[in-house]
Amino acid sequence: MTDVVVIGGGIAGVSAAAYLAQDWDVVLLEAESALAYHSTGRSAALYYPGYGHPSIHPLSYASGAFFENPEYSDHPLLSPRGVLTLVFPGQTAMPLGESAQLIDPAAVRGIVSVVSDTVEAGIWEPDPMDLDVAGLHQAYVRMFRAAGGTILTVARVTAIERGDRWRLSVDGDKIEADVVVNAAGAWADEVAALAGLARVGLIPKRRTAFMVAAPDGSDRWPLVHDSASSFYFKPDGSQLMCSLADETPSEPCDARPQEIDVALAIDRINTATSLGIRSVRSQWAGLRTFASDGGMVIGEDPSAEGFFWLAGQGGTGIQTAPAAGQLLAELVRTGAAPRTLQAAGLDLAAFAPARFR
Ligand SMILES: Cc1cc2nc3c(=O)[nH]c(=O)nc-3n(C[C@H](O)[C@H](O)[C@H](O)COP(=O)(O)OP(=O)(O)OC[C@H]3O[C@@H](n4cnc5c(N)ncnc54)[C@H](O)[C@@H]3O)c2cc1C
Repeated sequence: MTDVVVIGGGIAGVSAAAYLAQDWDVVLLEAESALAYHSTGRSAALYYPGYGHPSIHPLSYASGAFFENPEYSDHPLLSPRGVLTLVFPGQTAMPLGESAQLIDPAAVRGIVSVVSDTVEAGIWEPDPMDLDVAGLHQAYVRMFRAAGGTILTVARVTAIERGDRWRLSVDGDKIEADVVVNAAGAWADEVAALAGLARVGLIPKRRTAFMVAAPDGSDRWPLVHDSASSFYFKPDGSQLMCSLADETPSEPCDARPQEIDVALAIDRINTATSLGIRSVRSQWAGLRTFASDGGMVIGEDPSAEGFFWLAGQGGTGIQTAPAAGQLLAELVRTGAAPRTLQAAGLDLAAFAPARFR
């Protein structure tokens, strides 16, 4: 008999499902034919613990332990990258990470030779790492399956009712469970509405990305962005991944890149560097879904026992997944955060769905 149903097969759903399956019979439902089809499969893949809303920093730092010793992965998930923030005239520098150093224009171009000589300064952070998103997602799928979990794809939840137990309609079939975990990404408010619950007011925001040919010797460059967050680029194999760093509000959908956003990003990167980008090899867009206060939504719905939210991951859902998955599982188990996260200063109230009611 199913104890817990997890809705959503992105990184949030699979990480939570893997930890929940250590104690319970868990079924994971994914609407698409492949897991990680939406935001998770479209990420930039950076582990940058000082980035994002301050309330989630304890999750980012605590997740490092899993990334460094990934169970159920046969290869390391982290590799060196670094972040270089360019400061151009009229911009001010806001260092993010603990390892941040202010450097002069010559040092900036010593790290990334193509940066324009109009740059006034740089912030160099060696610590941020590349994170293997597919490897992380697969590690949690393996962990989940090893614990006996069941994954159903092409399994869109279309109705949720509450009787003695939760009863979900999935393409004509019914599944019952004591606990529902709403890890539906951009659709998490829609899933709550299916259960007759109030929305928390999530805002999906589109971000555009594309690949271009990488110049020789660029494979060791860090992620490069400007301090106004108007673009970024970073090596990705033999290519450079580029982005407008846009945050355009969107409906939950299969996000598509807009030509104008790709063109704008190329113009900004070409102004800031001598890369001279003329053509794009591939392009895509993904949704980064935020709560109105920028924090995440993790916890039991105040008006529905056994309905748990795991949503609002914004731009940090990959780098927080191990700790967020463990937090969700412990909240289902005991109603409290794991002691390690409490000791790290996690403020559970900053995650509570009740803060929006
Ligand atoms: C360009 C870009 C760069 C990014 N860079 C980073 C980064 O460097 N580091 C980082 O940590 N994060 C990054 N992110 C953010 C990260 O990708 C997200 O925070 C994360 O993927 C969210 O995961 P999720 O599982 O919540 O959502 P998703 O991956 O979208 O998964 C939700 C799933 O729920 C399913 N679903 C929805 N409704 C239903 C239903 N009714 N029934 C069944 N299934 C349903 C969907 O089909 C979907 O597969 C980036 C995002 C983008 C777009």
